[in-house]
Amino acid sequence: MRISDDRYTRDRLRFDLALRLIRLEARTCTIRLWTGLSDDRIRKLYRSYASERDRTPVPRHRGKSPRQTAYFFRNPERQFQAAQLASLYLLHGLLDPTPAGIEAHYKIGSLESGLLLCRAYEAYVDLHEPARISFEHAWFLLLALARHTEIDLARCAPCGGVQLRDLLARRDAACAYCRLESLDGPGGANAPC
Ligand SMILES: [Zn+2]
Repeated sequence: MRISDDRYTRDRLRFDLALRLIRLEARTCTIRLWTGLSDDRIRKLYRSYASERDRTPVPRHRGKSPRQTAYFFRNPERQFQAAQLASLYLLHGLLDPTPAGIEAHYKIGSLESGLLLCRAYEAYVDLHEPARISFEHAWFLLLALARHTEIDLARCAPCGGVQLRDLLARRDAACAYCRLESLDGPGGANAPC
Protein backbone atom coordinates (compact mmCIF):
# COMPACT_ATOMS: atom_id res chain seq x y z
CA MET A 1 0.00 0.00 0.00
CA ARG A 2 2.81 2.32 1.01
CA ILE A 3 4.68 1.67 -2.25
CA SER A 4 1.62 2.44 -4.37
CA ASP A 5 0.99 5.65 -2.35
CA ASP A 6 4.56 6.75 -3.02
CA ARG A 7 4.21 5.91 -6.67
CA TYR A 8 0.95 7.85 -6.90
CA THR A 9 2.61 10.86 -5.27
CA ARG A 10 5.57 10.69 -7.69
CA ASP A 11 3.21 10.47 -10.68
CA ARG A 12 1.21 13.42 -9.37
CA LEU A 13 4.41 15.45 -8.95
CA ARG A 14 5.53 14.47 -12.45
CA PHE A 15 2.27 15.75 -13.98
CA ASP A 16 2.35 18.91 -11.87
CA LEU A 17 5.89 19.63 -13.06
CA ALA A 18 4.89 18.99 -16.70
CA LEU A 19 1.97 21.43 -16.39
CA ARG A 20 4.21 24.02 -14.81
CA LEU A 21 6.68 23.62 -17.68
CA ILE A 22 3.86 23.93 -20.24
CA ARG A 23 2.80 27.24 -18.63
CA LEU A 24 6.40 28.45 -18.91
CA GLU A 25 6.34 27.56 -22.64
CA ALA A 26 8.99 24.84 -22.41
CA ARG A 27 9.51 22.64 -25.47
CA THR A 28 8.19 19.09 -25.53
CA CYS A 29 11.73 17.66 -25.50
CA THR A 30 12.57 19.73 -22.39
CA ILE A 31 9.40 18.54 -20.63
CA ARG A 32 10.25 14.94 -21.55
CA LEU A 33 13.78 15.37 -20.19
CA TRP A 34 12.62 16.68 -16.80
CA THR A 35 9.52 14.55 -16.25
CA GLY A 36 10.20 11.30 -18.11
CA LEU A 37 6.69 11.52 -19.64
CA SER A 38 6.20 10.31 -23.21
CA ASP A 39 5.60 12.79 -26.04
CA ASP A 40 2.08 11.42 -26.31
CA ARG A 41 1.30 12.12 -22.63
CA ILE A 42 2.77 15.59 -22.98
CA ARG A 43 0.63 16.32 -26.08
CA LYS A 44 -2.48 15.24 -24.16
CA LEU A 45 -1.49 17.49 -21.27
CA TYR A 46 -1.08 20.43 -23.68
CA ARG A 47 -4.56 19.78 -25.03
CA SER A 48 -6.21 19.42 -21.62
CA TYR A 49 -4.40 22.52 -20.34
CA ALA A 50 -5.62 24.55 -23.35
CA SER A 51 -9.22 23.28 -23.20
CA GLU A 52 -9.50 23.82 -19.44
CA ARG A 53 -11.61 26.93 -18.90
CA ASP A 54 -11.17 27.84 -22.62
CA ARG A 55 -7.69 29.08 -22.10
CA THR A 56 -5.77 30.35 -25.08
CA PRO A 57 -3.31 27.59 -25.97
CA VAL A 58 0.22 28.36 -24.84
CA PRO A 59 2.57 28.62 -27.83
CA ARG A 60 4.47 25.42 -28.54
CA HIS A 61 8.02 26.08 -29.58
CA ARG A 62 9.49 23.93 -32.30
CA GLY A 63 12.77 23.89 -34.16
CA LYS A 64 16.24 23.88 -32.71
CA SER A 65 16.89 24.50 -29.04
CA PRO A 66 18.99 27.57 -28.15
CA ARG A 67 22.72 26.92 -28.56
CA GLN A 68 24.48 30.27 -28.81
CA THR A 69 25.86 31.83 -25.64
CA ALA A 70 26.41 35.06 -27.66
CA TYR A 71 22.64 35.52 -27.24
CA PHE A 72 23.19 36.57 -23.61
CA PHE A 73 25.63 39.33 -24.57
CA ARG A 74 23.62 40.90 -27.39
CA ASN A 75 22.76 44.04 -25.38
CA PRO A 76 23.44 45.28 -21.81
CA GLU A 77 19.84 44.73 -20.69
CA ARG A 78 19.80 41.09 -21.74
CA GLN A 79 23.24 40.55 -20.21
CA PHE A 80 22.01 42.12 -16.96
CA GLN A 81 18.90 39.93 -16.90
CA ALA A 82 20.98 36.80 -17.64
CA ALA A 83 23.28 37.67 -14.71
CA GLN A 84 20.21 38.04 -12.45
CA LEU A 85 18.92 34.68 -13.62
CA ALA A 86 22.33 33.16 -12.87
CA SER A 87 22.15 34.68 -9.34
CA LEU A 88 18.75 33.02 -8.90
CA TYR A 89 20.27 29.68 -9.93
CA LEU A 90 22.86 30.14 -7.20
CA LEU A 91 20.18 31.11 -4.67
CA HIS A 92 18.05 28.10 -5.56
CA GLY A 93 21.03 25.77 -5.24
CA LEU A 94 21.08 24.73 -8.92
CA LEU A 95 24.66 25.98 -9.24
CA ASP A 96 27.32 25.66 -6.61
CA PRO A 97 30.15 28.22 -6.32
CA THR A 98 33.35 26.32 -5.48
CA PRO A 99 36.96 27.55 -5.29
CA ALA A 100 37.50 25.87 -8.68
CA GLY A 101 34.54 27.70 -10.21
CA ILE A 102 30.83 27.20 -10.70
CA GLU A 103 29.63 23.60 -10.58
CA ALA A 104 26.31 22.05 -11.54
CA HIS A 105 24.22 21.11 -8.54
CA TYR A 106 21.17 19.70 -10.32
CA LYS A 107 20.32 16.35 -11.77
CA ILE A 108 18.60 16.17 -15.14
CA GLY A 109 15.42 14.12 -14.81
CA SER A 110 15.13 14.76 -11.07
CA LEU A 111 11.69 16.15 -10.15
CA GLU A 112 13.28 18.17 -7.33
CA SER A 113 15.78 19.85 -9.68
CA GLY A 114 13.04 20.45 -12.28
CA LEU A 115 10.91 22.15 -9.65
CA LEU A 116 13.84 24.36 -8.56
CA LEU A 117 14.45 25.35 -12.18
CA CYS A 118 10.78 26.39 -12.53
CA ARG A 119 10.91 28.33 -9.26
CA ALA A 120 14.09 30.17 -10.26
CA TYR A 121 12.64 31.09 -13.66
CA GLU A 122 9.31 32.20 -12.13
CA ALA A 123 11.21 34.40 -9.66
CA TYR A 124 13.11 35.93 -12.62
CA VAL A 125 9.83 36.64 -14.48
CA ASP A 126 8.41 38.27 -11.33
CA LEU A 127 11.42 40.57 -11.18
CA HIS A 128 11.34 41.64 -14.82
CA GLU A 129 8.61 43.23 -16.86
CA PRO A 130 9.10 42.44 -19.66
CA ALA A 131 11.24 39.33 -19.11
CA ARG A 132 13.64 39.18 -22.06
CA ILE A 133 14.81 35.60 -21.64
CA SER A 134 12.50 32.72 -22.53
CA PHE A 135 12.37 29.57 -20.43
CA GLU A 136 14.28 27.64 -23.10
CA HIS A 137 17.08 30.22 -23.11
CA ALA A 138 17.06 30.19 -19.31
CA TRP A 139 17.52 26.41 -19.33
CA PHE A 140 20.31 26.77 -21.89
CA LEU A 141 21.96 29.41 -19.65
CA LEU A 142 21.99 26.92 -16.76
CA LEU A 143 23.52 24.23 -18.98
CA ALA A 144 26.16 26.62 -20.36
CA LEU A 145 27.09 27.86 -16.87
CA ALA A 146 27.42 24.29 -15.62
CA ARG A 147 29.66 23.46 -18.57
CA HIS A 148 31.66 26.72 -18.19
CA THR A 149 33.52 26.37 -21.46
CA GLU A 150 31.97 29.51 -22.99
CA ILE A 151 30.51 31.51 -20.11
CA ASP A 152 31.24 31.85 -16.45
CA LEU A 153 30.32 34.00 -13.46
CA ALA A 154 32.49 36.58 -11.76
CA ARG A 155 32.08 39.31 -9.17
CA CYS A 156 32.07 42.84 -10.65
CA ALA A 157 34.60 44.93 -8.68
CA PRO A 158 32.83 48.35 -8.94
CA CYS A 159 29.27 47.23 -8.04
CA GLY A 160 29.86 43.87 -6.31
CA GLY A 161 27.15 42.21 -8.42
CA VAL A 162 27.25 38.85 -10.17
CA GLN A 163 28.62 39.33 -13.65
CA LEU A 164 28.25 37.08 -16.66
CA ARG A 165 31.65 36.57 -18.25
CA ASP A 166 32.26 35.67 -21.87
CA LEU A 167 35.14 33.19 -21.82
CA LEU A 168 35.50 33.45 -25.58
CA ALA A 169 35.98 37.21 -25.03
CA ARG A 170 33.78 38.25 -27.90
CA ARG A 171 32.44 41.18 -25.88
CA ASP A 172 33.88 43.76 -23.52
CA ALA A 173 34.30 42.62 -19.96
CA ALA A 174 32.30 45.36 -18.21
CA CYS A 175 29.41 44.27 -16.02
CA ALA A 176 26.03 44.87 -17.71
CA TYR A 177 24.64 46.68 -14.66
CA CYS A 178 27.58 49.11 -14.66
CA ARG A 179 27.23 49.58 -18.42
CA LEU A 180 23.50 50.34 -18.07
CA GLU A 181 24.27 52.75 -15.20
CA SER A 182 26.86 54.58 -17.29
CA LEU A 183 24.35 54.85 -20.16
CA ASP A 184 21.70 56.27 -17.79
CA GLY A 185 24.01 58.35 -15.62
CA PRO A 186 25.00 62.01 -16.07
CA GLY A 187 26.55 62.42 -19.49
CA GLY A 188 25.53 58.88 -20.46
CA ALA A 189 23.91 58.01 -23.78
CA ASN A 190 20.48 57.64 -22.12
CA ALA A 191 20.78 60.73 -19.91
CA PRO A 192 17.98 63.29 -20.31
CA CYS A 193 18.96 66.43 -22.24
ZN1 LIG B 1 29.08 46.14 -12.07
